[in-house]
Amino acid sequence: MQAKTMEGREIELKPETLNGLKMHLLGPMFTPGDVGYEESRTVWNAMIDRRPAVVVRCLGTTDVMTCVRFAREHELLLCIKGGGHNIAGLAAADGALMLDMSLMRGVWVDPQRKLARAQAGCLLGDVDRETQVHGLAAVLGFVSLTGIAGLTLGGGFGYLTRRWGWAADNVTGMDVVTADSRWVHAGSDENADLFWGLRGGGGNFGVVTGIDYVLHPVGPEIVGGMVAWPASEAPKVLELYRTLVAKAPLELTLLALLRPAPPAPWLPKDMHGKPIVALLACYSGKVEEGEKAVAPIKSFGHPVGDMLVRRPYTQMQSLLDATQPNGRRNYWKSEYLPRVEPSLCEKLIDHASKIRSPYSSIVLVHIGGALNGLEDDHSPAGNRDAHFLLNLAASWGQASEDDANIEWAREAQHDAKAFSTGGTYINFLTQDEGPERTHAALGNGLQRLAEIKARWDPKNVFRTNRNIKPV
Ligand SMILES: Cc1cc2nc3c(=O)[nH]c(=O)nc-3n(C[C@H](O)[C@H](O)[C@H](O)COP(=O)(O)OP(=O)(O)OC[C@H]3O[C@@H](n4cnc5c(N)ncnc54)[C@H](O)[C@@H]3O)c2cc1C
Repeated sequence: MQAKTMEGREIELKPETLNGLKMHLLGPMFTPGDVGYEESRTVWNAMIDRRPAVVVRCLGTTDVMTCVRFAREHELLLCIKGGGHNIAGLAAADGALMLDMSLMRGVWVDPQRKLARAQAGCLLGDVDRETQVHGLAAVLGFVSLTGIAGLTLGGGFGYLTRRWGWAADNVTGMDVVTADSRWVHAGSDENADLFWGLRGGGGNFGVVTGIDYVLHPVGPEIVGGMVAWPASEAPKVLELYRTLVAKAPLELTLLALLRPAPPAPWLPKDMHGKPIVALLACYSGKVEEGEKAVAPIKSFGHPVGDMLVRRPYTQMQSLLDATQPNGRRNYWKSEYLPRVEPSLCEKLIDHASKIRSPYSSIVLVHIGGALNGLEDDHSPAGNRDAHFLLNLAASWGQASEDDANIEWAREAQHDAKAFSTGGTYINFLTQDEGPERTHAALGNGLQRLAEIKARWDPKNVFRTNRNIKPV
């Protein structure tokens, strides 16, 4: 079996060597051709097609420790798959030993202390489902099939970010298997440097096996959903968006979307595929107040569809799932913005009219609030000057359409850059974005992260990520 070392050399893994590994594992191991191999190696973005040499579906911390030890002994390249949603496909590497965490999906909730411990293979929906039993929620993202590990290790934002900051700001501890295959706990009073690095530094320091989240009272019912208008209304709707975000309480998160209408049942058939502008709202406080907060959206103009209603929080958390299926080709460009200026809106409307695929979208997410009040170095997720995230999300079906869609996203980003804080979201970086973009995402924290890397992973065992070189 051909495999790759950390330095990129080809090596031969003998069958008896692999059997030696298998003997020590509780979870299944796959090599190319085995049932399960293709499922494990496949990631959300179909532009990524990488073939690890060996996959281990870890069934506990000891499996993780065994794999890290094996990789060290054989100098084998290691990659880690959480939910496989990273757009750059960082979960998969050619010739590597892949740790597929998908069997580690336990969640334990302590409703009294408002804490949840989640195993690192959980998807967002796993955590939401268990915490909502108690009317509690962790700060997570918008699509329930995303992995908690990649999201949280890169910062993480969602409908609760305005109230409580980045997902990584709402973590009290993590269990980690280090580069020398030791188990350690990282928290504010134990291995505090490692804990700091993990809260936004992107998985550079070890394999996380468990994450402890602070929970907040949310739901189980909230007010949320979307209202859509024909794209011809975009100037007025984006102006409404600007007015609403200027005075929105922290409980209200608003997204603006420009895209071709998806074939969703709440939109009339004759609109499917036609350009729309939509506002997506989630009011995570009391439903009566939520209904008042979203009333100006529901009464605005002549919408072509309105599904902004009281609904379970778990439903809100999966509302966008159908629009983001596995297996499409995707290319994103993202920027943090201090504000949404009218001249930016004009440019976005223009670029929306040039979208090349029925699945692409321009998305503005209001994230300003709690994250801006924390010290810049509270966690490496940083970007405390960000009030909005702009995502220029190209998504399409066929490889023959790559060039046109990539060009669209790049051109739109070219015009959006003038409005950026200069920062970007590390978890939204595509594979062609280099070290200067990692710098834009992590900013001043980068030097401190490199020092932490030198202490915890001096040989750079964990390198199939937005890699921070040890100093
Ligand atoms: C459809 C979609 C919607 C999204 N929505 C949001 C959103 O609302 N908010 C948001 O903040 N982000 C969002 N993201 C971005 C998301 O946070 C990143 O893609 C993130 O990397 C996904 O985590 P994952 O575990 O699925 O990733 P994977 O692709 O499995 O892994 C990503 C990186 O994390 C590392 N990693 C994974 N597990 C571990 C572990 N246990 N220990 C150490 N390192 C590990 C991997 O090595 C890799 O480098 C979205 C992405 C997609 C595709």
